[in-house]
Amino acid sequence: MSRHSLLLSLLAVAMAACGGGTTTRQDSTPASAAGTGGVTLQAPAARKDSTLRVLVYHDMEGLAGQDDYRTFNYSHPEFYAKGRGYLIADINAVVDGLFAGGATAVDIIDAHGSGNPSPDVDAARLDPRAKQLTRDSAFRQYVDVVAPDVYDAVVAVGMHAKTGSGGFASHTYTLGMDLWMNGRSITETELVAYSWGRAGVPVIFVSGDDKLQGDLATMPWISYVVTKQATSASTVALRNVDSVHAEMREKAAAAVRALPQAKVTHLDEPVRAALRVAAPASVAMLRGVPGVTISSNGSEVAFEARDFVAAYDGLVALMGVARLAYPSVLNEVIRAHPDSTNIQRLQRERLMMRWLDVESGRWSPPTNAPSAKRLHYGAQ
Ligand SMILES: [Zn+2]
Repeated sequence: MSRHSLLLSLLAVAMAACGGGTTTRQDSTPASAAGTGGVTLQAPAARKDSTLRVLVYHDMEGLAGQDDYRTFNYSHPEFYAKGRGYLIADINAVVDGLFAGGATAVDIIDAHGSGNPSPDVDAARLDPRAKQLTRDSAFRQYVDVVAPDVYDAVVAVGMHAKTGSGGFASHTYTLGMDLWMNGRSITETELVAYSWGRAGVPVIFVSGDDKLQGDLATMPWISYVVTKQATSASTVALRNVDSVHAEMREKAAAAVRALPQAKVTHLDEPVRAALRVAAPASVAMLRGVPGVTISSNGSEVAFEARDFVAAYDGLVALMGVARLAYPSVLNEVIRAHPDSTNIQRLQRERLMMRWLDVESGRWSPPTNAPSAKRLHYGAQ
């Protein structure tokens, strides 16, 4: 199971389980990541010719007409089919606006990861002027496509608010994690902006719910389209979809025309990074590891990284560590099970035999079989 489909399953389980969609509100800065500034705004690089190339990131939680979490999750096929319809409609409206504003090329990249082995964007219904960005092997959509002089502007469609903002399906990278860079709690849109800041390219247009608009007050030059009002993490008040699409066309065009006034967000280096996690995730097991600072309650870890990519990779690795605490919930279930004594005995015996088998050369961990050759579209 890929990290992304795991992520979405967990998200689905958590949202189904909490129904009303409770969120944790975290307003104070972790002491270990406190600071001022941290991001330098720069003018976009001057364009050398008349081409104007735009890269469109898409997520799948901030779409117009969408009010059900199952529509962004491949594991609910009939709802997901509707979600794909919302996605292509938003993307085509934005693509149309970008070309109307003067874009000469538009590429689309997947930053969602629904669990669908095929891209969420239905190629057959995509505006034929736009092209889906692909690679021959898996890649980090926020990091690996960033290079100078490939795109002039970046756009993000169907985005969601960050963990703790109370937006529709709000989270950052995965459920219950709050990512900080240079003293700022950030959204996935800021991950895109900081990463493209390395190549001097600004984010000029974003669509999503009203809570994400609040989160992005940090980037006031962005043309923003509110697709819906979030009333909780699982409920929304929808806007009229045709008016949203008309506004997308208009604001995407305006964003392209206003490109020279947009700002490139360059993250100051070294980067102070921190991760705050909500229970049952925990980073307490890292206490005593050199190079990281752990809060007294085990919910925060902070470290210094040389640049954005090192900070990003460190945060992703630490999210994996924090999730190792999730089986504590499984342990609770087992302890409450009528057969718990037997299950725990079987687990101890299996662990003992695993050690003895490894020591005796009778067992080794399975190796990852090379996956079949296929195209990769991003988070997918
Ligand atoms: Zn996302």
